[in-house]
Amino acid sequence: MVRHLYVHVPFCQRRCSYCDFSIAVRKHVPGSEYVETVLAELRSADPGPAARSGPEGGLQTLYLGGGTPSLLPAPDLTRLLTSLREAFGSTPSLDDVEVTLEANPEDVTPDAARLWRAAGINRVSLGAQSFDDRVLQWMHRSHDAARIGAAVRTLRAAGIENISLDLIFALPEELHRDWERDLQQAISLLPSHISLYGLTVEPRTPLDRWISRGATQLPADDRYAQEYLAAHRRLHADGYQFYEVSNAALDGFRSRHNSAYWSGRPYTGLGPAAHSFDGRARRWNLAAWEAYRRAIAEGRSAVESEEVLSAEQEQLEHAYLALRTSEGLSLSIVPSVHLSAWLQQGWVVTDADRLRCTPEGWLRLDALVAKLFVAKELAS
Ligand code: SF4
Repeated sequence: MVRHLYVHVPFCQRRCSYCDFSIAVRKHVPGSEYVETVLAELRSADPGPAARSGPEGGLQTLYLGGGTPSLLPAPDLTRLLTSLREAFGSTPSLDDVEVTLEANPEDVTPDAARLWRAAGINRVSLGAQSFDDRVLQWMHRSHDAARIGAAVRTLRAAGIENISLDLIFALPEELHRDWERDLQQAISLLPSHISLYGLTVEPRTPLDRWISRGATQLPADDRYAQEYLAAHRRLHADGYQFYEVSNAALDGFRSRHNSAYWSGRPYTGLGPAAHSFDGRARRWNLAAWEAYRRAIAEGRSAVESEEVLSAEQEQLEHAYLALRTSEGLSLSIVPSVHLSAWLQQGWVVTDADRLRCTPEGWLRLDALVAKLFVAKELAS
């Protein structure tokens, strides 16, 4: 049974300076062809109605990510959601299902928002990134700061109240980005959810090239830590709870879809580059739109590859995902060798039988998980 469905929409109008995603840059999005291709993938991989819905009610979350899903023409988006609703048995309404659309602020018009709501979208994740126009230009974003507030108001007017804002932090010094001001601007729009992303330099991006030729420099690690911790203090003071290393929400507004990933539940992905997980094996589709489209058109599988997790990989992944979240990890599987040092350093807290990271611990999450497993190997 599919409870959590991800649909990847690969189109963008241009490439942001830091982005290494597999996207298809298009002035005109081939919406109808895209929807037909995704629905053909769904039919070809059809597990049968019994696997799609069951007594517990089938689909619980649907996430349209990208790319820029808000570039899909509204009639194509409506057709896609109607077909998915039929396929996964959530009729007559998608309202009990969390249906998220990733959107860029410039795509949020009154007409689009009204049609999205009518199609069943009840949560929008807006790629805000910053409220500083110079910074947005440096990022090659196609919106300006004023569009962010306008988009939030337009979504609310259309009946979409569950709004998340993405913000990027730890930007190069020379941009003189005022992080506290950006946090304040974001909070003043009263979003129900905020996601934070520290800037990373990915190979073959414009940012990577700028750095290679000395045109820009990344800030030192301490700036990353300072801004991350400042966001914790600020968002916490305004009633947001960090329920995952990069995500904070008001009460009742955690992302149910992403929470399913972090708790290791199975999910199904459709579209280029989409991943699926059945609890043991993970498979992923061809990443490039053209390769994916051709495979489906020729009746071939769109799956590029798959991996079955070994018992060790499962344990490692479970520990990593659990420590990412505020749920934490069961103390019963944590070797005691590092525990007192971590508690003393203020990187973790224990609560009943759980080990949870503090914000300082989340800053060194990878190192903590790696040490956990080295300690376990030494003990075994
Ligand atoms: S909008 Fe998102 S997916 Fe598209 S180029 Fe920018 S960061 Fe990448």
